[in-house]
Amino acid sequence: MIPKEKIEEIREKADIVAVVSDYLALKKRGKNYLALCPFHSEKTASFTVSQEKQLFHCFGCGEGGNVFAFVMKMEKVEFPEAVEIVGEKLGIQVEKSKSSGALKSYRDRIYDLLSLACKFYESNLDSKSGAKAREYIEKRKLSPAGVKGFRLGYAEDNFNSLTKHLLSRGAKPEDLEAAGLALPGKESGHYDRFRNRLMFPIFDTRGHILGFSGRSLNEEQPKYLNSPDSIVFNKGEVLFGLNLAADAVKKSKFAILVEGNIDVVSCHEAGFKNTAAPLGTALTTSQAKLIKRFAETAVLSFDSDAAGYAAMERAQEALNEAELLVRVLDMGKYKDPDELIKAAGRDRFAECVKNSIPATEFKIKRIISRFNLAEVEGRARAAHQVAEFLVKEKDKIVQREYIKYAAGLLKTDEDLISSEVRKRTFYNRSSGMPLRSVTKRPPDKIIEAEKNLLKLALTSNEALGLIKAGLGTDEFSDPNNREVFKKLQELPAEQLLLELGSEEQKRIVREAMLGESLEGDIKQMTNDCINAVKGYKVKKQIDQVRQDLMAEEKIGNLEAVKRLNSEYHSLSEILRAMTR
Ligand SMILES: [Zn+2]
Repeated sequence: MIPKEKIEEIREKADIVAVVSDYLALKKRGKNYLALCPFHSEKTASFTVSQEKQLFHCFGCGEGGNVFAFVMKMEKVEFPEAVEIVGEKLGIQVEKSKSSGALKSYRDRIYDLLSLACKFYESNLDSKSGAKAREYIEKRKLSPAGVKGFRLGYAEDNFNSLTKHLLSRGAKPEDLEAAGLALPGKESGHYDRFRNRLMFPIFDTRGHILGFSGRSLNEEQPKYLNSPDSIVFNKGEVLFGLNLAADAVKKSKFAILVEGNIDVVSCHEAGFKNTAAPLGTALTTSQAKLIKRFAETAVLSFDSDAAGYAAMERAQEALNEAELLVRVLDMGKYKDPDELIKAAGRDRFAECVKNSIPATEFKIKRIISRFNLAEVEGRARAAHQVAEFLVKEKDKIVQREYIKYAAGLLKTDEDLISSEVRKRTFYNRSSGMPLRSVTKRPPDKIIEAEKNLLKLALTSNEALGLIKAGLGTDEFSDPNNREVFKKLQELPAEQLLLELGSEEQKRIVREAMLGESLEGDIKQMTNDCINAVKGYKVKKQIDQVRQDLMAEEKIGNLEAVKRLNSEYHSLSEILRAMTR
């Protein structure tokens, strides 16, 4: 347990803007800061941070809260760990409870095991058994500094040296299994997952080891074996080397993405410290978003073979989705960055990085290179394929420019390509786009008016007074709005968020606090909204009366008809007065 005062101290000293900036590129807009939301996919920024209120809120997906809530969500950790992380950033040490194994969180236990395993692999590499791995390292010309920096190690060529080592340190077999280090044997006991492999530990950006990637040292398949996904590890959400690259990426605003672990080590050794790699799988949107936290641009330096190009195209989609600019680096005759750096030198690679071209340009060149441009048919087919590709470009200005560019390469009229693109745009739209959704209801004006009232009440005492006088709590039609309004009269705004029980109600308050402020005459706006809410009630009453009236008329109950008629008239009168 972290002492309450400690939590308070950290909360008070922390600035949510500074903390969020560690993860996202914030842009100042008015009083608030905006960014693309890391918790849902969006094209325009609706993720809002208020320095004044020390809150964040996404108007797109509704996520929000204070600095701890942000870190919990972002780092996928529990509250105490979030407090620790924020404390760390402020240089405030959080006294961890002095408990041992038993009370340690499960997650911490797994981290500890992985860290022990890493040390064990490292010591193997220096020992007699590691000769084969050292030979391989030498062959790949990795420097001792690189090996140390990336903490490479060796998993011995036998069935249970790691398992035995960790069990002797008091580890539980089921934890070894959960950490992805060991597998249960057919008969009994456990055996090592990684055997006779050069081990690359995979870190998160906070320095935890999450798993390993093991390079086979004989011909055993797969060439690279990754840890299975676990409570701490998800292959699709981390990048190899990003822990060491993050600062350089932040500084240079771009990340170099390569395919292999060895490429990452080589690039770092050659001074390209902003390099990282997906873990042998196609780059995922989560990984792209992770890069987006630190960079504006991704420079792809994948292998120059068919598989590399295919991987590059998939990566490009994920990166575009995360709103990163994508450039592609041409390595000429070299297969991968490692080979290039070792054969031609670091300066040559630096040149390649400098000469990298936008991914779209690269793709157009590649399409065109497949055709014989000396022939009319070749040029025409190239133009068709370019049009097919450019249809996907959503930015019309960019599309226009690339049409010009392609026309130049094909020595053809840009209007021709342009009209091909237009044709395809039309077809794509009519086949792919769903018709306007029928189920979507029109915006509920009354709920909106109630939300405006909450916003007014939270920002102006005058408005609060008017609302209290003009509208009973029960007249709020939405139960959540009603509850918020009730609490809001009892508590100061800052405390409101702590006291409200439901997530939905908290969301309403954050939206009211961080949303665009209402411009105009407060009194007028408040009265308008009160009238809208009251008017709605009256309208509902009128509807009811009308129904009753028709029912009574049917059965000829004149008494009731008379009464209802006069009720109908007076309600209509009230409504008219309100909307006047
Ligand atoms: Zn969101």
